[in-house]
Amino acid sequence: MNLKVKGLVLAVVSALVLNGCDSDKVKAELDHAGHKIGDAAHEVGHKIHDEVERAQGKLTQNAEKESLRQLGLDEADIDYVIAHNPDDAMAVAKHTNDEILYQTKYNFVDASGQQGGLKTYDWNAPLSSYYFYHKPANYDQLPLEEKAAVDMLQETDYKTSQRHEGDAKANLQKMLGRVAFVINSPKFIKMFNDNYQYLYSDTFSVSSAYPNEITHVPDSYNEFKADIKSALSREGNTYKFYAVKDLDVGDAKGDVGKLSAYFKLKGMANSKLKASAPLVLHELTHTFGYQHAGADQNTVKMKPNNVPYLVQLMTMDSAMQDQYQGDMQMFSNSVNGINQITWYAGDSMFSTYFGND
Ligand SMILES: [Zn+2]
Repeated sequence: MNLKVKGLVLAVVSALVLNGCDSDKVKAELDHAGHKIGDAAHEVGHKIHDEVERAQGKLTQNAEKESLRQLGLDEADIDYVIAHNPDDAMAVAKHTNDEILYQTKYNFVDASGQQGGLKTYDWNAPLSSYYFYHKPANYDQLPLEEKAAVDMLQETDYKTSQRHEGDAKANLQKMLGRVAFVINSPKFIKMFNDNYQYLYSDTFSVSSAYPNEITHVPDSYNEFKADIKSALSREGNTYKFYAVKDLDVGDAKGDVGKLSAYFKLKGMANSKLKASAPLVLHELTHTFGYQHAGADQNTVKMKPNNVPYLVQLMTMDSAMQDQYQGDMQMFSNSVNGINQITWYAGDSMFSTYFGND
C-alpha cells in the first residue's frame, strides 16, 4: 500500500512542479490524484479483507477438522466428508462436546482368555494362525477323503485370511469414526425422527436380565441421544473390545447396557466397511442398552420396531433410495421380501458420507 500511495503523492508533487502555479490546474490534478489515492486505498482494503477471510476460513476448517477428529474419524475420511458434504460435516463438527461418541475411548483388549463366554484373541495376531491351523478335534480319526476336504477348506481359508492379516483392528477403528459421524449427522437425525413412530415397546425388553436395559421408547432423536449419552457416561465413555474367532450371531455382538463388544476377527478384516458399519452401529446400540426382545426373533429381525435393527436398516445400502422415501417400514418390507420393491446395492449414509469402500 505504501509504495502505491507514495507513488501517487509523488505524482501530485511532480504535477505541481511541472505545471508551475496554475492554481486551477493544480486543483484539478489534486482532485484527480485524490480519487486515485481513494481507489488504491479501497483496493488495498479489499485485499486485507480477503486475506482475513482466508485466514478465518483456515481457522474454521481447522476447528471443524479437530472436532471431527475427536469423533474418531481419520484424516482421509475427514477430508472426504468435508469435500463431498460440507454442510453436514459442518453441522456435525459444530456440536463439539455434545455429540454421541465424542472423545469415546476404545480399548482393544488382547487375548485375555474367556470374556462373555467367548475365547478372545490378540487383535494383531495373524489371522492364518487361527484358521489355518484349526482342525476339527477328530481330524486324526477322519477318513482320508474327509481329511482332504478339511485340508482344502483350510487352504482356501488361509489364503483369504492371509490377504487381510492385521486389517481387523484398523477397519474397525475406521468404522467407529464413521459410525460416530453418521449417528450425529443431519441425515440420520432426520431419518430417525421420520421413523421412530415404528418403534414398539414390546421389543425393548423381555426380562430384567440386563440391569441397564433402556425400556422406554424414545419419542425423538433428542431423547434417543440423551439416553445414549447417559449410558456412555455411566462407564466413563470407555469401551472394551474383544477379538473372537467365531460368533453364532454374525460378525459382531454387543453386550446389552454395557460398554463391551466382541468382533469376529476375520469378518472385520475381510468385509467392506460400508457393509459392516451398519452392523457395528447395531451392536453399539446394544451396548447403550437397547434390545430386540421377542420370543421369536423373526418378529424383530430387520424390522423397524426396535432400535438396533431400525438404525441398521437406516444406514444399510439402498435405504436412501428414492422409492423408499425414507420410510423404514417400506424398506424393511422390501428387505424381508414382503410387498417387495426391487432393492439393490444403492446408496447408504455410509457411502454418501465416506464413499463406496
Ligand atoms: Zn442385535
